[in-house]
Amino acid sequence: MRIILIGPPGAGKGTQCQRLVELLKVPHLSTGEMLRAAVRAGTPEGLQAARSMEQGQLVPDPLIVGMVTRRLEAGDCRNGCLLDGFPRTLHQAEILDDLLERRAMSVDGVIELAVPRDELVRRMLARKRADDDPAIFSRRITSFEEQTAPLLEYYGRQEKLACIDGLGTADEIFGRVKAAVKRFERSRSVR
Ligand code: AMP
Repeated sequence: MRIILIGPPGAGKGTQCQRLVELLKVPHLSTGEMLRAAVRAGTPEGLQAARSMEQGQLVPDPLIVGMVTRRLEAGDCRNGCLLDGFPRTLHQAEILDDLLERRAMSVDGVIELAVPRDELVRRMLARKRADDDPAIFSRRITSFEEQTAPLLEYYGRQEKLACIDGLGTADEIFGRVKAAVKRFERSRSVR
């Protein structure tokens, strides 16, 4: 199963991915986590990404695409993976489709975790991260609305999208996530 999770910052993608990893036994590919690890390690990619990340802006496509391609080619991704944070733009989605197609792979389903902006802000104030400064957080939500939300239509047209209410307890939300995964499994078997 190759599944993408899409949602604004603070929607709870990380929490749901942790649970999905246990359910599906596939690796969790979080581009945000990969980039933060690269920044911590001071690699050339980390140095290049740090400025955009601090400002709540997207890092350049070649950097992120290179990172994801290397990761997707690793043996542990052969049977699937959870993509969290990538693709983030229509252009990245097209690159991903192309990349997978050339390896005879495809995206099986896309889960949108929908959470209203005021709830995202409330959650952000309750946690603390370097890029969680309120102004920057707000910029990251706007970047989601402007650049990432169009992806929903893209995957909707491919009939791969499940829109899930991201409000409630982690268990309640995971119940909805599992139901979406079942639907993906059923449509994969008829595709
Ligand atoms: P996240 O933890 O997914 O919210 O990502 C944190 C930051 O990493 C984002 O604000 C971006 O600066 C950068 N980032 C993560 N994924 C991508 C991506 N697919 N394209 C560009 N920048 C990204």
